[in-house]
Amino acid sequence: MMDISNKELSGSKALKIKFFFMDVDGTLTNGCTSYSEKGEAMKSFNHRDGTAIALLNHFKIGAGIITGEHSEIVKRRAEKLKINHCFLGIANKAECLNQFADAKKIKLDEIAYIGDDLNDLKVMQLVGLSFATGDASTLVKDKADIICAAKGGEGAFREAVEILLLLRNDSIESFLELL
Ligand SMILES: [Mg+2]
Repeated sequence: MMDISNKELSGSKALKIKFFFMDVDGTLTNGCTSYSEKGEAMKSFNHRDGTAIALLNHFKIGAGIITGEHSEIVKRRAEKLKINHCFLGIANKAECLNQFADAKKIKLDEIAYIGDDLNDLKVMQLVGLSFATGDASTLVKDKADIICAAKGGEGAFREAVEILLLLRNDSIESFLELL
């Protein structure tokens, strides 16, 4: 089961959310990258996480990717899933999100974020609602508002989105009608 340390507080934080940003390696993937003999990188993505993007779109919550890697695979995946805000090769994620919030004229507490590793910590402490994957680093889990049961690449992002919608009391019935 998911671990929500303070459900009431998380509920009021969830109501403010307008954008949901996600880390990629270890969050949308299991953290492993394979290489072919030709040196091409391969990552696996979970289709249930893809549906989570459609859920966010349906409820008018913007989806965004923010990753330290500069990967063509991630770019293609983001295009396929219609993730409009895609920041690749970002060394300082906190600075990137600050600039994003400025440009959109929103507050940082209107952003949710999910990550798994130490380079996510600063961002998680900046945003309004933070999630850790079930297999995140202990330090990351310690700082997260909510710890997912699912691991990175195994539906953690999907779980985080469903928790967000539950906390907001958004009914997914209207989404199901579209399927
Ligand atoms: Mg990561």
